[in-house]
Formats: sequence, structure tokens, C-alpha cells
Amino acid sequence: MQDDHILEAFRFTDILSTYAQIVPFDAARYILGAGGVFLVVNIVLARWLGGRKIRSETPSGAQMRREFVISLRTVLIFAGFGVLVFVFRSAGLIDVYLDPAERGWAYFTFSVIALIMLHDAWFYWTHRLIHDPRLFRRFHGTHHKSHNPSPWTAYSFNGGEAAINAAFLPLVLFVIPATPLAIILFLWHMMLRNALGHCGYEIFPSLRSGRPALDWMTTVTHHDLHHAQAGWNYGLYFTWWDRMMGTEHPLYHEKFAEVVRKPLDGSAVGARRASVA
Ligand SMILES: [Zn+2]
Ligand SMILES: [Zn+2]
Repeated sequence: MQDDHILEAFRFTDILSTYAQIVPFDAARYILGAGGVFLVVNIVLARWLGGRKIRSETPSGAQMRREFVISLRTVLIFAGFGVLVFVFRSAGLIDVYLDPAERGWAYFTFSVIALIMLHDAWFYWTHRLIHDPRLFRRFHGTHHKSHNPSPWTAYSFNGGEAAINAAFLPLVLFVIPATPLAIILFLWHMMLRNALGHCGYEIFPSLRSGRPALDWMTTVTHHDLHHAQAGWNYGLYFTWWDRMMGTEHPLYHEKFAEVVRKPLDGSAVGARRASVA
């Protein structure tokens, strides 16, 4: 390698100033994302969505304050991995290109979808890993302290779990060149799906049969069941990994139908069995 070694290409002072610039962005994403979902779903629409509240009890203020404070630590860890993106780019190791037109909008769309799908796979497998009894308490116990989650649970992670989650972006950019705009869309999608998945109200549409209209996506009930009964439903955005690996909660569709107050008819159960087989 030439004299433009990674550390020389990106000096320590650059690293510090980049870190200081990324922290507010990551903090704003959490505060606006989790806070926005909390404000809209749990306060403004709470009465209207009352019939779709998953649990009868509501997370306490003390729980949400704890989640908020822990999530700020997650923000600091996420920003640290954000710096790696700049370091890797500066060293020419990854391709973060500035103009979306450079590779075309079709590639841009592909890159956003690929980031989301690969993150879903990363999350599913690392999530299963940290549920291993040897790792659970150190890596994932904090997240499951929120037995009845709130939107603020979104970033309530042990330091190790935050690092595992944050490592995805600098690593995936080695294989998926992306523009900053694609990365921002990916990060906001992650934030909003994460906060919504913990909001405690089933906001996903349902069919007359009581099944989720978008059954390939994880609903709020899907992740709520994971908090209620760990050992099932490890997926983040999509249900396919849980279905392929046989880790979807066996009563998920029944629970979803109960939450949306529709009878899960026999044909729907039959259809599910057929699709699983
Ligand atoms: Zn878990
Ligand atoms: Zn969770």
C-alpha cells in the first residue's frame, strides 16, 4: 500500500471533528424518529387506535426515561461507526459516490432496497446469536428489560448490541456502493420501522380474514410477541427469515387477528399452512 495509509489519509483530528458532526445527526434521528412515533401514535392517535392496543398496560414513564438515556449511549456508538464510513471512503476502500446520476436512478433504487434487505438478514442472524444464553445478558438483556416496549425502546441496547447493529453500515458498503441520499433513506427507514415496531399499537393493515395485509412484513404484533415471549420472531422488517427458519411464533396470526379484532377464519389458517409447507 502507498503512503496514503488509512490513518494518514484520515488524521486523528479529522476523526474527532467528523465524530462531532455525526453525533447530532444520529441523535436527531433517534429523538425525531422515536419521539415522532411516540407523539403521533402513542399520544395524538392513542384514543383512535385504542381498539388496536396490543397490551392493556402502558409502559411507565420511568421505563421510557431509562430507554431514552440508554439510547443516547447507542447514538454515541452509532456515530463512532459512522466515522468508519468516512475513514473507509477516504482510504478508497468503499464507494460512497455523491451524485446519484453517476450510477443512475435504477441502481439508486436497487441500492436502497439491497441495504434494507441485507440489514434485515444481518439483524435476524445477529439477533439469534445474541439470544444464545452465553451472550444474552451481556449483549441483549437491556433491550429485553422493556418487556412491554415503547417507541423509545428502539435504541435501548447494551453497548455490544449497539456495536453489532452499527457495524452493518460500514461493512455493507464494501459490497453495495451507495450515495449519501441512499444511506439517509436506509437509516430513516430503519429508525421508523424500529420505533413503530415497539409502539404497542397494531398500525399495520389487516384483511377481512384477520390476517396482515402485508404478511411479508413484520407487524407491530410480530415484534411485540418477541418482547413478550423471547425465543420467537427475531426478524426486523420482513417475516421471511423467521418463516424459513421456523422461528415465527406459532400463534402469531391468531394474536394478530385478536389485536385487530377480526376472527381468523379457517381458510386463512389453511392458507398459511399451505404457504409454510
Ligand atoms: Zn431479542
Ligand atoms: Zn425490540
